[in-house]
Amino acid sequence: MEYIKFGKTDLKVSRVGFGALPIQRTRLSEAIRILLRGLENGINFYDTARAYTDSEKKLGIAFKGKRHKVVIATKVHCKTKQEIFNLLEESLKNLKTDYVDILQLHNPEKIPDPSDSNSAYAGLIEVKKKGMTRFIGISAHRFGNAKKAITSGLYDTVQYPLSVLSSKKEIELIRLAKKNNVGFIAMKPLCGGLLKNIEIAFAFLWQYNCVVPIWGIQRMKELKQIIKLAEKPPVLEKDVKKEIEKEKKALGTIFCRGCGYCLPCPAEIPIPMAARMKFLLRRAPYKKFLEPAWQEKMLRIQNCKKCGFCISKCPYNLNTPEILEKMLADYIDFAESKGVKVTGEKNEK
Ligand code: SF4
Ligand code: SF4
Repeated sequence: MEYIKFGKTDLKVSRVGFGALPIQRTRLSEAIRILLRGLENGINFYDTARAYTDSEKKLGIAFKGKRHKVVIATKVHCKTKQEIFNLLEESLKNLKTDYVDILQLHNPEKIPDPSDSNSAYAGLIEVKKKGMTRFIGISAHRFGNAKKAITSGLYDTVQYPLSVLSSKKEIELIRLAKKNNVGFIAMKPLCGGLLKNIEIAFAFLWQYNCVVPIWGIQRMKELKQIIKLAEKPPVLEKDVKKEIEKEKKALGTIFCRGCGYCLPCPAEIPIPMAARMKFLLRRAPYKKFLEPAWQEKMLRIQNCKKCGFCISKCPYNLNTPEILEKMLADYIDFAESKGVKVTGEKNEK
């Protein structure tokens, strides 16, 4: 495993980070086995969040007695100084520790004003002074926020989605982070599950030796795959570059990343899945998506109230209702091509 010094921190982190969002879905004993196997294989960087239900708790149980061996980054959703204290106290209890290595603001709508003594930023500074976190960071889904955070000089790390599908402008953030000595945590290296060729995704990010991607891991076989790639990182050769271009062409630039910031939808449309359905049908086992339960969910798109809430919340400025309509039309066509009539009723196949 290779390690890097992370930005202006004194942390030495593995170039393969463990994204601990998916282990929420893994039963406790298996989650512990996976986390410990990751550590045994040199992965020392674990990214979680207060919002990831029991993810912090699982890390706390797995790494009890091994705290000094791991670098833990967590995130809190909050707007005020006081909220930071309350949430971080909860996180520390879950993580069975008295400090985290990096405390990040979890995708705030705006970068907090550092001159506001009650802001979330003031809270970060305060908890750092108290030794509850060693370093401070921020996660952002909006390009503008990420850029502002990187150039502000206020944060030790910035977390932003980065993958083979990132635009040139987004890739430029890496150079900016390096110049400003800010640690770059790359979230969604598989673009929220849309990229199926992990070798390509890995090779692409490996070329940036100041970036630590956090690979979302739910199963042991996923961990083994990542460890194997870290042992012998694939090189960005001509054919890999060709594959990247193929992926980019297939997905385009305007697509849903599945982040879920547009929820709750008043029409109860499961937007993060529904707005990616075209790709999920073709890049994942499709049968379950054609079952009546999913038909009913997809047909909710017809009930869209055009309230605009999803548009106002989407960090990628997507016209979500328009995308959903296209996804539903494609869904019906796809189902028909497989001999399935979309009615949403249980007796239909
Ligand atoms: S515009 Fe439609 S899809 Fe978007 S939040 Fe409103 S009801 Fe849901
Ligand atoms: S529509 Fe936008 S906010 Fe909603 S899940 Fe997709 S990318 Fe995220």
